[in-house]
Amino acid sequence: MTYRRLDIQLPSPAPGVQLTLLAHQFGKRGNGRSVYLHAGLHADEHPGLLVLQHLLAMLVQLDAAGLIDGLVTVVPYANPIGMSQRLFGAVVGRFDFENGENFNRNFPRLDQQVAAHVADVSDRTNTPEIYRTLFADMLGKATATTPSQALKLELARLAIEHDIVLDLHCDTDCIAHVYASELQASRATLLAEIMGAPVLLLEPHDAGGGAFDQVHSSAWGTVQAAGLLSEHQSGFSATIELRGQADVNDEPAAADASNLLRFLGSERVLSAQALCAPAPVTQTASVFPLDGASHVPCPCAGVIVYRKAPGDRVSVGEVIAEVVRLDGREFNQRVPILSTVDGLMIVRQLKKLVRPGERAALLAGKRPVRDRHAGSLLLDF
Ligand SMILES: [Zn+2]
Repeated sequence: MTYRRLDIQLPSPAPGVQLTLLAHQFGKRGNGRSVYLHAGLHADEHPGLLVLQHLLAMLVQLDAAGLIDGLVTVVPYANPIGMSQRLFGAVVGRFDFENGENFNRNFPRLDQQVAAHVADVSDRTNTPEIYRTLFADMLGKATATTPSQALKLELARLAIEHDIVLDLHCDTDCIAHVYASELQASRATLLAEIMGAPVLLLEPHDAGGGAFDQVHSSAWGTVQAAGLLSEHQSGFSATIELRGQADVNDEPAAADASNLLRFLGSERVLSAQALCAPAPVTQTASVFPLDGASHVPCPCAGVIVYRKAPGDRVSVGEVIAEVVRLDGREFNQRVPILSTVDGLMIVRQLKKLVRPGERAALLAGKRPVRDRHAGSLLLDF
């Protein structure tokens, strides 16, 4: 057995309160690749928490049989700060009570430091190991003061030591979809298809926002874009939106955990004997550019009724939902919400009492949407 447990202490937010980040590790570095997984960075998103419990149980069995070739690190809950934020019963885990910051934004980015290093380097003997060590050294010098900053830095440091980083999220009510860098299109497509996700959103290397997976992709992408490593040699990170917030059940969670193992097998983290005959990939992922993703706002307050469901095709101008005004002059008065793209509905609201400006839906189309701008493609809400 190679299993070990890491307890990482975070700064105490108040006298008598101790915050601890927990990580489980299996295998060792050197034989195969290394992979890092966590869930619940948005602490109000719970499907991934259950998926990782199933995955951990499977990893224990593989470890006992000596079938883990590489290094696997699993952080079962990435945000103990957010998980403890309750307001009158509800977990409010997406934004930091301290300053309103989205917990999945403003992670440290390494692209500028890495670009400066790459411009300086005359020795072009490159291996992924050299860069992994470089990135870890860069983050090793970073400092943090507040508990939330320290949480982000510790997660970033743990993750950057791995070749592959997978961040498990969910959305309000949605079909599975994957976000990744366009520099990593082929591995991202394989991941989406193995996970049964019908949609892959590819973001430019400089999408901005500082999401957790961009710590990894900003560093590796800078090296890859400079032509120093191939796509396959480079590290790979992705955000997997598993399903809707209310979809926390054993059956899909166990299936997701098995699929994650299949992806780990494809990346040589597990030995070949660890995998049963690979199930055929039955899901083809439709690939969309992130600047073709459209966040459609609600026009007014009321109760939203959908005409389309996640996964449905939509066309520009088609009615996807209606907001039923509760305070109009007429009864059951409807205000239509129209599709802004030719493409697919990815996400809709779970709770149906809406206010003006609230996202009614996330739609994905192939063409860039007019109000999306390179460098700020990730919204903060
Ligand atoms: Zn999330």
